[in-house]
Amino acid sequence: MHEITETRISYHRGETAAEARIEAVLAAGSGRWAVVTDATPFHPVDAAWPDQPGDHGNLTVGDQVIPVVDTQIVTFRPADGAVSIGPEVTARRGDTEHVFAVAHLIVKHPDESWVGRTAQLTVDDHRRRWLSAAHTGCHLVAYAFNEATDELWSKETSRDSRGSRNFDAAALIDSRHDLGSSVDRYRLGKSLRRKGFDHARMLAGLDTYLARANDLLASWVAADAPVHLTGSSDSFTAERVWRCEISPVATMPCGGTHVSSLGQLRSIEIRAEYLESEKEMHLVAASQPR
Ligand SMILES: [Zn+2]
Repeated sequence: MHEITETRISYHRGETAAEARIEAVLAAGSGRWAVVTDATPFHPVDAAWPDQPGDHGNLTVGDQVIPVVDTQIVTFRPADGAVSIGPEVTARRGDTEHVFAVAHLIVKHPDESWVGRTAQLTVDDHRRRWLSAAHTGCHLVAYAFNEATDELWSKETSRDSRGSRNFDAAALIDSRHDLGSSVDRYRLGKSLRRKGFDHARMLAGLDTYLARANDLLASWVAADAPVHLTGSSDSFTAERVWRCEISPVATMPCGGTHVSSLGQLRSIEIRAEYLESEKEMHLVAASQPR
């Protein structure tokens, strides 16, 4: 029986190194193994909403330095010992039958004697900085585009934390981040139209709305607004809230990693692609760290 406990995390504070105790080594399929530790600075890709990719880096046990090629979520059910890793995870946070932990994926065959030993965990800092820039940029793009398109609503709908009607919440179907970039996919269908959003008018004037959003993004970056990620504890499944001190303040729940101020970004710029056959608009953002 494994002794997997809920991982204590430190990536939400921007940390990239930690010492931790190895709790389990598990076969993860495709010639990979998952090393589970009691604490970690590694950010895992979320199984339910895989927007930010998992961290890469190194795991050092004794004098062995082993590359971590991906970071995923692992769930463990103490009642029957069932373990799920990465895409197999179906339990959702708040499910008290499962323990949620972070799995460091490696391709080197682990040594069983690792369990109980101390490991040094070191995240690839360069990759993390570019992913954090993309994640912060992606949130701000949603706020900027909401504000830029607020006039296109004919009905009341949910508003974002800054008071703009929330196009992002009403139309978003998928969000993916990469190193310094992100793609948000929006469905421009009948259901959005019924909610009161005039997407035909948006598409006709798309250059204007994008320019408005890009002006807002440039002004926020120039103002070097601070960014915080606050949470009730360091437990992996604790609720965390992202907050950016632009005016009005932008705030939303978030489990990813972020820059600590917008001055760490060179710029955030968006462009749009409209896929007529799919009735989808993609907002593609470039958010590069300095
Ligand atoms: Zn987020």
